[in-house]
Amino acid sequence: MFEKILIANRGEIALRILRACREMGIKTVAVYSQADADAKYVKLSDEAVCIGPAASNLSYLNVPAIISAAEVTDAQAIHPGYGFLSENADFAERVEKSGFTFIGPRADTIRLMGDKVSAKVAMKKAGVPCVPGSDGALSDDPSQIREIARKIGYPVIVKAAGGGGGRGMRVVHTEAAIINSVAMTKAEAGAAFGNPTVYMEKYLETPRHVEVQVLSDQHGNAIHLWDRDCSLQRRNQKVVEEAPAPGIPQRLREKMGQRCADACKKIGYRGAGTFEFLYENEEFFFIEMNTRLQVEHTVTEMITGLDLVQEQIKIAFGEKLKIKQRNVQSNGHAIECRINAEDPYTFMPSPGTISRFHLPGGPGVRIDTHAYGGYKVPPNYDSMIGKLICYGSSRGQAIARMQIALSEILIEGINTNIPLHRDLMNDLGFKEGGVNIHYLENKLAKKL
Ligand code: ADP
Repeated sequence: MFEKILIANRGEIALRILRACREMGIKTVAVYSQADADAKYVKLSDEAVCIGPAASNLSYLNVPAIISAAEVTDAQAIHPGYGFLSENADFAERVEKSGFTFIGPRADTIRLMGDKVSAKVAMKKAGVPCVPGSDGALSDDPSQIREIARKIGYPVIVKAAGGGGGRGMRVVHTEAAIINSVAMTKAEAGAAFGNPTVYMEKYLETPRHVEVQVLSDQHGNAIHLWDRDCSLQRRNQKVVEEAPAPGIPQRLREKMGQRCADACKKIGYRGAGTFEFLYENEEFFFIEMNTRLQVEHTVTEMITGLDLVQEQIKIAFGEKLKIKQRNVQSNGHAIECRINAEDPYTFMPSPGTISRFHLPGGPGVRIDTHAYGGYKVPPNYDSMIGKLICYGSSRGQAIARMQIALSEILIEGINTNIPLHRDLMNDLGFKEGGVNIHYLENKLAKKL
């Protein structure tokens, strides 16, 4: 096994990876920006290297600084976590060319899946159902564009091949608007992602966001770890996630999981990954693949009993998957609430010092956080300061435990979205299960 791994990330996920390494007897190197010098995981790691000032582009996105840190500490592998450089194919390539192991897929896989047009083509070929749409990129020919949209049927959505984070897409309801909308999305995509390529899809009006977790080793074995529902979103940011996705027929879950695992074999995927789908009227439509660990991997860990970070590390080292598909369990139900340092209703970020900090506990309660009383939330990064995960033998029990945990948790000195979560856990639609991706925004709009 690796003797030492460098963690190229910060916050709760740095601590999560550190814990996984410690359990496996692997030494860790934390890298940190000047803003994170006092972070708990920096102190807990075996070694720590400052890689630059607070600004991400000078520290957590600073590839030469991270590679140098691996060199001076003799780390053998680099875990990118999520966000930052985790889906940057050039980074993965640099890591491997410098003689380290990248804990994630090969650079060419990241590149293939990072371009949504090539990803869709590959998935269609591998037998994964996709949203009906253009065969690849749109041309500049107005009559062709109109023809494609007519064939798909309005409303359609024009999306940037290089888009991400919910940016670079535009819904079009009428033929009168289509040509102009394509041109505008192209111009924006060129400016924002350096790639003006756009494609077109049927716009699904009230889908759910359901995703499938996979693990694939370097020896041609791939398994799926069932599904998650992440439909409670605001501005394409997930707020609450759960596993399994409620109300999906078991046979369909099995079929979709198997399709994703098979697709991994076909594209020679390596590591942990997520196939994201829109789910409507008992049908799955692939939208994109995330070639990394996700924030919400925890709920899958709770229902399967597997440690996804350790699995990633073992796969990167070259081990064969030990677990067979038939032994992957889906037991009980797990829910995750993302705890953010922000106003619960205006969503204004709320950095600053946490004055009082009390965490809940009891059966089925898991907390992944790097925060503590006295911790100063820096203003420079994502506002997520932790994740509260509750497990129950049923969905009802998971919700009840989450309600209790949310009644016990106390974070003072900064604003958090805990009141929003308390509200959501009592929401009738959520309790029933299976709300669509517009549910939270509609609910928030009614409140204002
Ligand atoms: P990103 O990489 O920016 O997250 P995705 O392709 O995953 O882009 O889409 C993000 C979100 O945009 C989806 O979760 C969904 O809410 C919406 N969306 C994308 N494609 C469609 C579509 N064809 N129909 C309806 N909504 C869509």
